[in-house]
Parts: sequence; structure tokens; C-alpha cells
Amino acid sequence: MELPEGVVDILEKLNKNGFEGYVVGGCVRDHIMGKTPHDYDIATSALPQDVKKIFDHTVDTGIKHGTVTVIADKKHYELTTYRIDGKYSDNRHPDEVIFTDRLSGDLSRRDFTVNAVAYNPQKGYVDLFGGREDIKNKIIRGVGDPGKRFREDALRMMRAVRFSAQLDFEIEKNTLDALMENHELIKNISIERIREELFKLILSDNAERLEILINSGMTKYFLPEIEAGKTDYTALSALSKNVVLRLAYILKDMGSEKAYEIAKRLKWDNKSIRDTAMLVRLWDRDITSPYSMRKLKSIAEDITPLLLELKSVIEGSSYERYRELYASVENDCTSLKDLAADGDDLIKAGFRGQEIGERLNMALDYVMHYPDRNNKNELMDYINEKGR
Ligand code: ATP
Ligand code: MG
Repeated sequence: MELPEGVVDILEKLNKNGFEGYVVGGCVRDHIMGKTPHDYDIATSALPQDVKKIFDHTVDTGIKHGTVTVIADKKHYELTTYRIDGKYSDNRHPDEVIFTDRLSGDLSRRDFTVNAVAYNPQKGYVDLFGGREDIKNKIIRGVGDPGKRFREDALRMMRAVRFSAQLDFEIEKNTLDALMENHELIKNISIERIREELFKLILSDNAERLEILINSGMTKYFLPEIEAGKTDYTALSALSKNVVLRLAYILKDMGSEKAYEIAKRLKWDNKSIRDTAMLVRLWDRDITSPYSMRKLKSIAEDITPLLLELKSVIEGSSYERYRELYASVENDCTSLKDLAADGDDLIKAGFRGQEIGERLNMALDYVMHYPDRNNKNELMDYINEKGR
């Protein structure tokens, strides 16, 4: 396995100081699959205080769990001390983290065989659970007894589905049975951790595997509105990888108030919550005329491209046609700030108070019907005529 220079340097430096270091987890898995890893996690026998002594630039990322970030050449590497997890009494977190000097202990606490392969240039692969074979056969299999592992940390059940969708791997039978059996334990997991896994699943190339999550019963605990077997999710993966867009597709038939409530329950940021609800509210509008497209742009300009994509995928209609119509009105005036008349003009013409806003909005609607009439004279004529 070819490792970046920075990683090799770190492994050598650990070695020189009498410690072991291995790259492990996602980067090894990705490498075996022929993908370029997005980051390199390093497991080491060195304790956090040793790591901090050996390397010049470090950040205490998660000292309690044994993780120190080493910064070398402006790149960040996470070094985590080999650990075994203590007893789990809440289906969530180990009661304590116990450091160990044995790699085998560290690999045993990892979730799936495909994530439990370690490598270093001197020793080669350390693969105690057949992870490479499972990668080759595209299988997600729990390390050890999957039921026990899911009861330790229930989030692993969502991770199983997420990895299955991201990697296009099948969940092995025992692991899937254990997931079905223990699904209700997901209620013990915080909504933030659930959201993170849910969104990775939704954004994957095989997002329709959301159905595994639904059929297992897990979604009952955080998305009870979703009914098994009601919606076909195969179209999800055809949508751009935008989580607002894909979530809106999932919630499309629930109405915008419900969509808002659900996005809020996931403790998402306000803009994403609003945008999702807006997409759900607007996707089934009729948009066939230039006027209706301008109107849409005036209501929801920054999500109009997403809306057109969502609409065309749901309707099975041509996205290109909507895009062309949108492009044809893109430079037309659709907001008060681009209107050729403003409040001052109306005051000069004798309008007062509420009337000013009302007239301006009428003028905007007029201009959305007749985009070439956005000049002050014509607008003031229209406003004056309508106004008295
Ligand atoms: P990604 O490419 O999505 O980052 P990854 O495999 O690196 O995939 P992470 O969530 O970053 O996944 O976790 C890093 C490694 O830590 C995993 O490969 C796995 O070995 C271990 N791990 C992470 N979360 C858990 C968990 N809840 N239980 C057991 N092991 C875990
Ligand atoms: Mg990772």
C-alpha cells in the first residue's frame, strides 16, 4: 500500500521512539477498493502524552479518547492510542476507555470487518477478521457478535446501512438479523449523531437503501412520519448530491409544515430547515409560463435551481426544459430592489404609508407580466392609473 510521505514520516518517527503505528479504518478500506482515501487515521501504541512529546505541532482533539492531531506540512493526521472500550451501559458510549499496547485489542473494538484492517510498511496488513476478503466480496459484517456490538453502541446499526449505501456492499445475514432485532435501541442515540449518519446515507450513490433503515423499524424513532413501503426511493440517487434537495424528496408528500417540523427535529441549521420546507411547499406548482417562472424566482430565488431539479425528477419531466425557461427569465426583474421605481418616487407622486408598499408590489407583479416595461415612466403611469 502506497502511503503519502507525511504518513510514512509519522509512522517512522513513532517507530524510532519505540512505538508502533498503523494506518487503519477508512483509509485502508478505501485503498484496497482502489479509491484515494480522503484522510489517514493512525492507530498507535504511544499514549497521548508520548505523541505530544514526539511531535512538534499537535492539537488535543479528543485526549479523553486518546486522539491527538499531529500537524506536519500543514496537513492534519489523527493519531489515536490503541484502546479497548470498557463496559457499555447506555447503548451509546463506553463507560470508560482503556488504553492498551496491543493492536489486536484496538481492532476488536471496531465496528465492521471492512473497517478493522490495519497496515504499516514494515509489517504489511494486519487483518484479524477477514476484512480484506469482505471488501473483495462487498460485505458489511460486524466484528465479533453483531448483536452485542449493536447493543454496545446502537449507532453502529445506522453505520451499517450507511456504509452499505456508500460502498454498495450487502449487509451480511447475521449482521442484518441483529440489526432487525435491536433496531429499537436507536432511540438511545442523540439526534445529532443520527442526523450525521442519515445524511451520509441520503447523499450516497445508493440512497434508496434508506429502505433498509425504514424496514428495520429504526426510522420509527426519529422519522415516524415515514411509512414502510409507501414511497419508492430509487429516484433519490438520480438527484444531485445536495442534502436539502434529497431530504425534500423524501418528505415531498408530507406538506411543508410537517417537513419543517421534521427538519427542525433533526436539529439542523435554520436555513436548511427553511429551504427544505420551501422545496416541499413549491415543487408541485405549475411552472409552464415565463410569468410563473418569474413568480417562483421572486419567492425563492436561491433555491429555484434545486426546485426545478426536484420537480422534474418527481414528475419525470424534462429538467432541461425547466432550466431553459429559467434561463430565459433569469435577468428579468423579480424583486423590488430591481424595480425601476422605488418608495421615493411614490412619495413624490403623493402616496403615503401602507399604500406605498402595496403599489410597489402591484408594479412588481406588472413587470413580471411585462418585463420590458420596467422603466420609471411606464411604471409610474401604471401606478398612478391603478392608484386612484
Ligand atoms: P469515512 O470514509 O466515512 O470517514 P471511516 O471508516 O473513516 O469512513 P469514521 O466514522 O471516520 O469512518 O471512523 C473511523 C474508524 O473508526 C472506522 O473505520 C471504524 O474502524 C472506527 N469507528 C468509528 N465509529 C465507530 C463506532 N461507533 N463503533 C466502532 N468503531 C467505530
Ligand atoms: Mg473517517
